[in-house]
Amino acid sequence: MAGGAITRFAPSPTGLLHLGHAYAALVAQAAAGPGQFLLRIEDIDRDRCRADYEAAIYDDLAWLGLTWPQPVMRQSDRMTAYHEALARLAPLTYPCRCRRGDIRAALSAPQEGALPAGPDGLVYPGTCRGRSMADAGPDDVIRLDVARAFDALGIDRVAFRDQAIMPGQDHLLTRDQFQEGIGDVILSRRGMGTSYHLAVVVDDAAQGITLVTRGKDLFDSTYIHVLLQKLLTLPTPRYHHHRLIRDDAGRRLAKRDDARAIRSYRDDGATPQDIRRMLAF
Ligand code: GLU
Repeated sequence: MAGGAITRFAPSPTGLLHLGHAYAALVAQAAAGPGQFLLRIEDIDRDRCRADYEAAIYDDLAWLGLTWPQPVMRQSDRMTAYHEALARLAPLTYPCRCRRGDIRAALSAPQEGALPAGPDGLVYPGTCRGRSMADAGPDDVIRLDVARAFDALGIDRVAFRDQAIMPGQDHLLTRDQFQEGIGDVILSRRGMGTSYHLAVVVDDAAQGITLVTRGKDLFDSTYIHVLLQKLLTLPTPRYHHHRLIRDDAGRRLAKRDDARAIRSYRDDGATPQDIRRMLAF
């Protein structure tokens, strides 16, 4: 889109939006320019998502002065699309029955000191890699065999560009770095039928997102998303990973920080302009 971008703000309705969310939403809206700013509700985790939090998202964003087109995409309505993507990736996936304790034990055996961890926590040691999808049980997760994925694509690295961090240069991750630092990522979580990574990639493409803006905490996940885009022959958008809003002690805000909820500021009489000012926006 000439002069503009299609961007999105993609919150999960697992709590009240806080100042960090307000910042992410404002960045996404500003980055769209004359393009389009979309809202997407990331509610694949049915145990943690709540309808009243979703309603509060709409209310708080409208109060902040944001507008977005209807209908809003909700990930819980998109299971067929995730299922199709998983089926396409099936030759490169395997079912895994390991629980966190199994993974920790398998990693501790050869390892001294800190265990290898990536964007999703411990790097999976590959215990179930030999299992076939035909043996998948209802309690298994589904993992991507990263080595096979790189082989299938005939590539030895993934790369993307960020508008703010080293702009104009590639952020690169080699196959070895991917295997050692990220590992065989989960594409379908237990009882969910998808995972954050798979859903976000499928939906960004379905919504025609041309510029993904999101916090720096998700920077390393972008390598996973680029790999999935290649495997699913989807376009790679541009990226902008923005700063995180921190509390006075320098900690990243979390949903449990109710004191920082937009709702609390509203209740205390703050205006949307006050919020923008606090965020230096
Ligand atoms: N739903 C994610 C979150 O609340 C953001 C997803 C994304 O921007 O890719 O942190």
